[in-house]
Amino acid sequence: PAAPTQYGRVMLKISGEALMGDQGFGLHPPTVSRIADEVESVAKMGVQVSMVIGGGNIFRGLQGSAQGMERTTADYMGMLATVMNALAMQSALEAKGLHCRVISAIRMDEVCEPYIRRRAIRHLEKGRIVIFAAGTGNPYFTTDTAATLRANEMNCEAIFKGTKVDGVYDKDPKKFPDAKRYGDVTYDEVLQKHLGVMDASAIALARDNRLPIIVFSLDEPGGFRTILEGNGTYTRVHS
Ligand code: UDP
Repeated sequence: PAAPTQYGRVMLKISGEALMGDQGFGLHPPTVSRIADEVESVAKMGVQVSMVIGGGNIFRGLQGSAQGMERTTADYMGMLATVMNALAMQSALEAKGLHCRVISAIRMDEVCEPYIRRRAIRHLEKGRIVIFAAGTGNPYFTTDTAATLRANEMNCEAIFKGTKVDGVYDKDPKKFPDAKRYGDVTYDEVLQKHLGVMDASAIALARDNRLPIIVFSLDEPGGFRTILEGNGTYTRVHS
């Protein structure tokens, strides 16, 4: 039986690096499958799940441009990397018998669906997991901004940002044992104190639409479900 949750529709944002496991690069299928387990347990509660996955495990536009590549071209390569990650996650979800659609901000009809808002909402209503790929489709943006944009468009109740730590700290908790976790923090505090939640444009977009951001650890098995049930430790960013 599904446990009660206040959420009907959510956005899960994970970085590309979350899919590489202990490797320094690329995709680690057992890790992808483990994250798919997290998504499955939430989908089984009846929550509609949309996802955005970064591309940093394969390519980052800024790195390419630092090595002399033209910036917008490098950013398009980064967006293509997110499509590969989305396809890997789709495959892992389907292996568990879940229904999933990859929707790309850059058309590639042989590979996945194009972004059509009403169609994406329909998929969610039918209980399909929707993975938004290729970021916003524009260079100079990040997948954090893409997650915030799509979460707004899909009328998600919150963005869940799965990371390696269970919230936002005043300093790196892996380096400083006295680091303090914020339970609640405002968008403005995140911007003023440069807390590493998401980049500034993503935070501003969330703030202007009062979309809460919940930062939690994806390293704990069952963590995503626990947070949706209102338990566990996390940081909630709100107005
Ligand atoms: N990117 C972009 N526009 C977007 C989203 C992503 O140009 O709307 C590019 C950008 O080059 C970025 C790369 O895709 O470096 C991978 O995305 P991101 O760095 O957000 O991935 P993450 O750090 O979450 O793995």
